[in-house]
Amino acid sequence: MSDVLSTPLWQDHAAIPVLPELPMPAEVDVLIVGAGYTGLSAARETAAAGRSTLVVDAGAVGAGCSGRNGGQVAYSIKPSFKALSARYGEKRAFAICQEGREAVAYLRSLATRDGVDCDWRERGCFYGAHTRHHFAVMAREARQQPQGLEQRITVVSRAQQRQEIESDFYHGGCVYHDDASVDPLRLVLALLRRAQDSGAAVRDQCAVQAIRISRIGFDVLTSRGVVKARNVLLATNGYSGPLSPWHRRRVIPIGSYQIATAPLGVERVRSLIPQGRNVVDSRRVVVYFRPSPDGECIIFGGRAALAEKNPLACVPRLRSMMARIFPQLQSVRITHAWVGWVAYTFDTMPHLGQHKGLYYCMGYCGQGVPLAPYFGKRIGQQMAGLEEGRTAIDDLSFPSRPYYFGTPWFLAPSVWAYRTMDAVGI
Ligand SMILES: Cc1cc2nc3c(=O)[nH]c(=O)nc-3n(C[C@H](O)[C@H](O)[C@H](O)COP(=O)(O)OP(=O)(O)OC[C@H]3O[C@@H](n4cnc5c(N)ncnc54)[C@H](O)[C@@H]3O)c2cc1C
Repeated sequence: MSDVLSTPLWQDHAAIPVLPELPMPAEVDVLIVGAGYTGLSAARETAAAGRSTLVVDAGAVGAGCSGRNGGQVAYSIKPSFKALSARYGEKRAFAICQEGREAVAYLRSLATRDGVDCDWRERGCFYGAHTRHHFAVMAREARQQPQGLEQRITVVSRAQQRQEIESDFYHGGCVYHDDASVDPLRLVLALLRRAQDSGAAVRDQCAVQAIRISRIGFDVLTSRGVVKARNVLLATNGYSGPLSPWHRRRVIPIGSYQIATAPLGVERVRSLIPQGRNVVDSRRVVVYFRPSPDGECIIFGGRAALAEKNPLACVPRLRSMMARIFPQLQSVRITHAWVGWVAYTFDTMPHLGQHKGLYYCMGYCGQGVPLAPYFGKRIGQQMAGLEEGRTAIDDLSFPSRPYYFGTPWFLAPSVWAYRTMDAVGI
């Protein structure tokens, strides 16, 4: 195991820049905490609207999830149209689902029209059914999609499954043709350039230690001095620490772990996933995998531990999860293993808005590749006072739970219960 790197595979192909140590501005219109997809997308909008904008990150740009995710792009609002209709009524539910579609369309247009260099590939996703019952539900849902919200879906029977994956692990599944993939690190670096080109200043290795209300807005105490800001955006998602206890009580940081195999050769990878698609499955404790952009390796991820662990310690478990699907990879060498913190919410919805004058945008429930650039853009537009920044999820109530203060004590028993239900096929 000693030769397994704990850096994301993405860093083998793109270097995270070390930003020059420029002086900090004394005062700005907008200060954004977090230089991931959300923060950089918001910064691009506020700077383009003429607001002096500073983005700071405690680590490197993209050090959070944005530089270390799986790069899978899918329609990403978790609750179904039916569930949203029961909560908010049909009209708002429809508008919320449209936001999810817009998010994918926005990323597509950034990549294909606006020159955002992120290895965009529209190969679709195979969604594997873990049980026969899951397959029946999936096939029914594919046939009965809500009108006006249809996605291009093909139902794949178990007999046809080997066209998608060299495995009999699943009971069939569905192909979502509109799904895509990106190189996540290249995406965050491209969003950095866009924000900077619009005039935003970005400082890395600059942790925000406190945010205090002041006469003009806020005094932001950072590890590199105090900055006065008229408006502040928390774009910290799964890394939201003690800075704002109100937000911390509303997001659940959960570790998501990934491994990359040693190069297997393009032909072998193509034989495992013949269409080169993303793959996810219908388990509660979901796994996700895909070929690497160069087609040489498999990148495999999921929830590998009951409680958080060093990613290297998760290699045996992730490898055995992968080998249950692909027994032929039982003894393959693993070269990289890494972890990042996604932000779940109690209603499985993303949230954006303002609390006591502090803007926030977070809670993508592990689906922020399309959602974070899109809602980041929208919150940036809101901060710039632009009407087009309004969304269907503005000011949804952002729930917490009694006795939850930011440490998810319920995670281990929940993962254990979900795993047990998956194992017995409930
Ligand atoms: C292993 C893994 C796989 C994933 N796979 C997928 C996938 O395939 N598809 C998908 O849609 N989503 C995926 N995700 C989720 C997705 O990556 C995130 O939802 C998305 O990147 C969130 O972006 P963000 O900008 O909001 O947050 P982040 O990129 O996490 O950025 C938050 C930033 O805030 C900074 N920060 C926090 N506190 C402070 C402070 N006090 N001062 C300064 N800076 C601070 C952190 O350093 C961090 O850089 C995955 C995540 C992980 C971990």
